[in-house]
Amino acid sequence: ATFNAAPAACRPEVCFADIGGQKTAVNELKEALDFIKNHEQIIKLGIRPLKGILLTGPPGTGKTLLAKAAAGYTDSVFVACSGSEFIEMYAGVGAQRVRQLFKTARDNALKQKKESAIIFIDEIDILGGKRGQNTSHHEYDQTLNQLLVEMDGMKVNDKVRILVVAATNRVDMLDPALLRPGRFDRQVKVDLPDKAGRLEILKLHSRNKPLADDIDLEKIAQETFSFSGAHLESLANEGAILAMREGCVKIEQRHFLEAIDKVMMGEKLDRRPAR
Ligand code: ATP
Repeated sequence: ATFNAAPAACRPEVCFADIGGQKTAVNELKEALDFIKNHEQIIKLGIRPLKGILLTGPPGTGKTLLAKAAAGYTDSVFVACSGSEFIEMYAGVGAQRVRQLFKTARDNALKQKKESAIIFIDEIDILGGKRGQNTSHHEYDQTLNQLLVEMDGMKVNDKVRILVVAATNRVDMLDPALLRPGRFDRQVKVDLPDKAGRLEILKLHSRNKPLADDIDLEKIAQETFSFSGAHLESLANEGAILAMREGCVKIEQRHFLEAIDKVMMGEKLDRRPAR
């Protein structure tokens, strides 16, 4: 296999205010980030630097958004990838990609004159599953070993400080080595939003949309039990599409109500009332 281009590096365009209904997660994450922001003090007090934060929870709840916002908050470059990008049939390719990922983060930070970089690894369970469980996948082990080597090699006075933020829905699947102190030693839970959270997310995703006077987002929030942020974003979009199809200039409540069904049909979601 030929080695593909380095993972995309981009300027973060998300801030914590763009994330709805994840107050606990945002606060916990900020607390951890404040700790790395106080770099001078960390060195003075001889504190072990925070190298990894694990975001756990179901898909579409805003883990990627949180990682992007973390990069903005700490003025770090942001490099994102998914665990699935490291899995190749050929020995050594996954490990090489891990090395390249860290190199990309450092190079981009130096280029942009930033002191820190956030590496986001979505679906870390794909590359960080328990080692030795699947004998036909020795390659997975090498890739995970390389990630551990990179993280262990990160030092408090490195020119570019790196924080690895990883996301998973299956923390039980992770190799315990990843959870040891000095690796991913902070976990932040990112749950499905409750009703108030859903309302916040709906407001965020309809802020740039023309809404008719009969719109009642609270009712929509009430009716969308078990929807994730991604589902709610999709609902707002579907509602706008339905309005457009009918030639309406504003989105009406019935469009959003119909959009609930559309999103649910796509996902077979549980629609229990009020929570
Ligand atoms: P996955 O595990 O599937 O990668 P994720 O938890 O990383 O999911 P995101 O990629 O952050 O989820 O969310 C997908 C999209 O859903 C976002 O781009 C955003 O439009 C919307 N979204 C999800 N959660 C929220 C939220 N809490 N507030 C606002 N928008 C959200």
